[in-house]
This record gives sequence, structure tokens and C-alpha cells, in this order.
Amino acid sequence: MSAAPILIGGGGIGGLALGLMLHQRGIPCIVAESAPEVKQLGVGINTLPHAIAELEQLGLLPALDAVGIRTRELRYLDRFGSRIWTEARGLHAGHSMPQFSIHRGRLHGVLWHAAAERLGSALRTGLRLTGHSQQGDRVLAEFADGTRIEGAALIGADGIHSVLRQALHPEDGGIRWNGIQMWRGAIDWPAYEGGDTMIVAGDMKEKLVLYPIGEGGTPGTRLTNWVVCAQIGDPAKPPRRREDWSRPGRLEDVLPHVHRFRVPWLDVEALVRATPEFWEYPMCDRDPLPFWTQGRVTLLGDAAHPMYPVGSNGASQAILDARKLADALAAMPVQQALAEYESVRLPATREVVLTNRRGGPERVVDVVSERAPDGFERLEDVIAVEELAAIARGYAQMAGFAR
Ligand SMILES: Cc1cc2nc3c(=O)[nH]c(=O)nc-3n(C[C@H](O)[C@H](O)[C@H](O)COP(=O)(O)OP(=O)(O)OC[C@H]3O[C@@H](n4cnc5c(N)ncnc54)[C@H](O)[C@@H]3O)c2cc1C
Repeated sequence: MSAAPILIGGGGIGGLALGLMLHQRGIPCIVAESAPEVKQLGVGINTLPHAIAELEQLGLLPALDAVGIRTRELRYLDRFGSRIWTEARGLHAGHSMPQFSIHRGRLHGVLWHAAAERLGSALRTGLRLTGHSQQGDRVLAEFADGTRIEGAALIGADGIHSVLRQALHPEDGGIRWNGIQMWRGAIDWPAYEGGDTMIVAGDMKEKLVLYPIGEGGTPGTRLTNWVVCAQIGDPAKPPRRREDWSRPGRLEDVLPHVHRFRVPWLDVEALVRATPEFWEYPMCDRDPLPFWTQGRVTLLGDAAHPMYPVGSNGASQAILDARKLADALAAMPVQQALAEYESVRLPATREVVLTNRRGGPERVVDVVSERAPDGFERLEDVIAVEELAAIARGYAQMAGFAR
């Protein structure tokens, strides 16, 4: 009789990474994704070298190179375009792997394609997890269409609105919004500063993020991702509309915030105006949980630890979760493996969630904006370089990608 499979609820970045890693170790699994078909959803996302190292182990580096950009440099500016801090990224910072700036849908597509090829019929669509029960050495997963599947474990990789999280923690406080709205879009645009530079400008209350995420359709252009963030709401209240990655944004809402930014090499307003379709999304997370695991059931990725998208950690931490869990499942009995996984990954990701609430590495722009709201002539009059370095390096250390 073949071993019972590990059931993975959710075929997003984390669920697919786990499925591929288990398959590599010869552990049977079933990935059940609720979407009836896979579309290239989302806009830009960054994936850090330690997570890329795990995808390289799956043989995915050439596929990532075909659709993403190896990020060379990250520059922090104030809202007037003056430079605050510059740091090399990925290979350029001495890591053995690159950082990728990539379209989330294309990253998902790379994982999906590999999973479809390797897992075959064990990758299933149209299966929305609704419940589960545990008995003896088995878990029974239940789906909206009446399908029931038995497995050795159930992993909730079902994103920020996780059904499994809700089942394990019915008292959980739900989504927390910090009052910041994000508008996100991407469009082909003339390459700036080498075509592989990421920009973060402004401060936590009003911020601009720019980075190329792929080759453009014409020579000299890049598919350029932009994000505009603005404090528009009361952090004590829930967002006005349910957070949804696919909600269209409106030009009249975003333009007043765009006008505040100057970037030397790029006309930000023209970039935003030219983008035919973009999205709004509230910056939200959820409180860290006291536990993820109950017997043969656990959580992974955004289901376990949704975080603010600062510091490029959402996808990266989901991939690191997958690595730890796959390694543990290959090395020890299921329940022990789940407990081992949680003992390592829960405290690590808790720290990232809480640090991101304080601005993560982007605090370098916050601090300067607080001290010099009208700009500066000489940065050294505002902040010492050692203080900037301490913020940036402290974050890298905490999130596990320091060198
Ligand atoms: C449509 C979409 C667009 C996104 N766009 C961006 C973006 O532009 N930039 C960014 O930084 N982050 C984006 N994210 C979030 C980002 O992918 C995650 O923060 C990160 O990669 C962690 O991955 P995850 O696998 O834990 O969660 P996700 O990538 O969110 O994946 C969760 C998966 O579970 C599926 N699912 C949900 N409920 C169920 C259920 N009950 N049963 C079965 N399956 C279920 C979802 O359809 C999804 O495929 C997006 C997420 C989604 C779902």
C-alpha cells in the first residue's frame, strides 16, 4: 500500500514550493488549489537570495532568469529625489544567489509549470478547502464541491484569508490594517539606472517604490513595477473594502499622492498615468499566532504569518517555510516533523511580521523624513551613515539574509 499523501491546501507560492520540495524527496503529496484555472495575477514581488537558493535546488533558476530581473541595487531617496542610502543586492552584495524582482504571476507561473510537469494529477484546481477532521494517523480534508481526501497531514497554504487558520484559531483578531493604502501597477517603460535598480522614496506615510520586473516589449524598456503608498485611514479601523489582490485602483485616488514625489531619472506621474490598469490594496497583516500546528495539521506562508510588504519578505519567507517543512517531513515522523517545523519557523517569521510593522529596512527613509521633512542639502547633517547602516544591516540579520 502506498503512503498517505501530504495534503496541501492552496497552490500559491508557498504551497507549490512545498509540493515541489516534497516531490523531490519522493514524499507523495496533493496540492489542492481553489482557483478553477491559473491566471497571472498580481504585480511585482521581490524574492531574496536565501529563498532563490531553495528554488535553485529545484532547478528553477533558468526559468526565473527567463522572466525576472536580477536586482543589482536598492536605493533609498527622500521624496525630493535626494539619495539617502544605497546598497548592492543579490550577487552584487556577495550572495551566492541573485535577488529577483519579478511579476508575481510569472513567479507563480514558473512554480505552477514545474509542479504540473512533476506532480501531474497530484496538482488539482477547483478544490476549495472548507474543513478537516483528524482521526488516528489520518487527516480528512473537505472541499466545497463535496470532495474529501485523506492524507497523512494537512498543510494550510491558503493565503491571508486562510480557512485552516480560522479553524485552528477561531478567536484570531483577523486582518489588521495600518491605514495605508497601496496602489500597484506595472507598465513597459524606458529602463532607468542600468535597468536593475530598485527605488524606495518618501516615508512610511507616503511612499513610492519602483523596480523593473522583466524585459519590456521593445528594446531599451523594462516592465516597470510601481507602488504608491499613502496613509488614508485610521489604523484602529478595518479597511473600507475587503482586501483583494485584484481590486482595480482609480487615477483620481492615486494622483494626489504621486504629485509629492520627484525622481531624477523618471517622470512618476507620466508612468502612473500611462498604466492602463492598476490595483489598490490595503497594507495589512495579522497578529502573530501562538501556535500553527495541531496534531497533523499546520500552516505555511501567508496563512501562518501574513506581513506588510516591506523588505521583500512575503514570498521569500513562504519558500523558507516550505524548505524547513519538507526537510523535517523527510527526516522524521509526521507529527514530530510538524512540531519541529513550527519550533523553528514560528519565532523567525514572528520577528519579521513585527519588524515590518515598524517599517522594516525602509525605516531609513522614515527617520530622514522625520528629521528633514523639507529635504536636505547634506545628508550628514541629518543622520550619520553608521545609523543608516545599522537599520539596513539589522533587518537583513533578522530576516536571515545578512552576509
Ligand atoms: C491573486 C494574488 C495576487 C497577489 N499579488 C501580489 C503582488 O502583486 N505583490 C505581492 O507582494 N504579493 C502578492 N500576493 C501575495 C503573495 O503571493 C504572498 O504574500 C506570498 O507569496 C506568500 O505566498 P502564499 O503561498 O503563502 O500565499 P498566496 O500566494 O496568497 O497563495 C495562496 C493560495 O491559496 C489559494 N487558496 C485560498 N483559499 C483557499 C482554499 N480555501 N482552498 C484552497 N486554496 C485556497 C489561493 O487561490 C492562492 O493560490 C498575491 C497573492 C494572490 C493570491
